[in-house]
Amino acid sequence: MKDRHLEERPACSVKSTPVPVEITCIICGTEAEIWSDETDIVCNSCGCLIKKNKTNN
Ligand SMILES: [Zn+2]
Repeated sequence: MKDRHLEERPACSVKSTPVPVEITCIICGTEAEIWSDETDIVCNSCGCLIKKNKTNN
């Protein structure tokens, strides 16, 4: 008899609580805040698109 062990993994891609993250515009250097569940925002100073770098995860 085979004992199969199935592990159920919770969906790790689902974020529970988004938090604001400081991000610096690479164009004008303005500091802005981006939510952790967002991938990019528009800089309110120069209007360019600031993309968040993925460090891990
Ligand atoms: Zn900017």
